Amino acid sequence: MLGEKWLILAHLKMLRESTPTRRWSLSGLALISAAGMATAIAVVPGGSEPNVKTETIVQPLTPPTIQIEQTDPRPFIREDRIRAGESLAGALRRLGVTSAGLSAQINALAAGRQLKGITAPGTLITVATSAEGNMHSASLHRPGSDIIHTLDSSDGKLRITPQAARLEVRTHMQGGVVQSSLFAAMDNAGLPDSIAEELSRIFGDDIDFHTDVHRGDRFNVIYEVLYHQGRAVKTGRILAAEFINQGRRHAAFLFTHPNGDTDYYNADGRSHKAGFLRSPLEFSRVSSGFSMRLHPILGTWREHKGVDYAAPHGTAVKATSDGTIEFIGRRNGYGNFVVLRHGDRYTTAYGHLSSFASGLRQGSRVSQGQTIGRVGSTGWATGPHLHYELRINDVHQDPLTARLPDAQPLSGSALARFRGQMEPLAANLARIQTTQAAQID
Ligand SMILES: [Zn+2]
Repeated sequence: MLGEKWLILAHLKMLRESTPTRRWSLSGLALISAAGMATAIAVVPGGSEPNVKTETIVQPLTPPTIQIEQTDPRPFIREDRIRAGESLAGALRRLGVTSAGLSAQINALAAGRQLKGITAPGTLITVATSAEGNMHSASLHRPGSDIIHTLDSSDGKLRITPQAARLEVRTHMQGGVVQSSLFAAMDNAGLPDSIAEELSRIFGDDIDFHTDVHRGDRFNVIYEVLYHQGRAVKTGRILAAEFINQGRRHAAFLFTHPNGDTDYYNADGRSHKAGFLRSPLEFSRVSSGFSMRLHPILGTWREHKGVDYAAPHGTAVKATSDGTIEFIGRRNGYGNFVVLRHGDRYTTAYGHLSSFASGLRQGSRVSQGQTIGRVGSTGWATGPHLHYELRINDVHQDPLTARLPDAQPLSGSALARFRGQMEPLAANLARIQTTQAAQID
């Protein structure tokens, strides 16, 4: 009995996570007769509508009499997730597969390492059998993966084939009000953590999400969710978002440039991206600033034309702005060295790297935040650190204090194109806002 209860709970959880499909009703039927319970499920269609409530009610019913016609050619479909410590053969048995010799064939696949990484706990397994439990086929889908593996034994020999999952992109809209923290509010609104993280990244230039978020702040977000056969498998991009922080409205809209690059802009076409990151390392401390100093190796007073950041060997070094590689290679005291050009006036340089990111060469385009290499101590360095320089019109400047330009705002045909993409999103944001307000009143 415990086993059946568990199954029902597992299926209820799956149902809550997905739109019920026709196939579910088949496996559901088997459960009703087994456990003497039925589930009455109220699902409001249209998962993309904001604030849709899904309610699940469980009530006992007299088990209906079910007769299975042995000649019925339609397959029985069952679906569940692979449990911790469970083998593929074990999961198939649990789902009612009784095919003779299947375990041996699965073991052969496993021995050939063909099952490596695709039968992890949590993997969704869907199996089609005959009424007697002979397996027609099975599919394995790991949450968040773009690949589905199909097991097929139609000609008596078990084969496994990977296939690209056909993912359908749906747009979700959601809004919320901050009561305690942003993450709690997003959780209440049913938004995944990845959306909260992405929002704090997008609005990072305007709002400090650690200190500036207050009770009563509101957010609305339009984002993509990728579905496979009616089931949400992963979160896609944020298409538009607004955050009302202490009465001030900040908005961001995703814009796809003609070359395919994407960035977030506010409604006027100004970029949310700073022109330059203040630091090329995420976590670090300045160990030597921009000034005269006694050179640690040469032992003489010299001008230090950059900033040194102490960081462990191997820390990712990021391009501080979009640009192209002007130099990549070894240069005496700098060791492994990268120089990036950002438009006509600006260059940045990165020294003492232990390695370069693969695929980069002179002339390569890099985008802001892209890893270009790793911290090391090549060249004249006493220990692992990054030497970082900023030059404006070929004159070295202190990167910690220099006035740096904003990213280019959109203009001309790009601005017109942006407006075309932005306006329908803005209308939808306003719609979420209205629904929210109606609920609060
Ligand atoms: Zn230095």
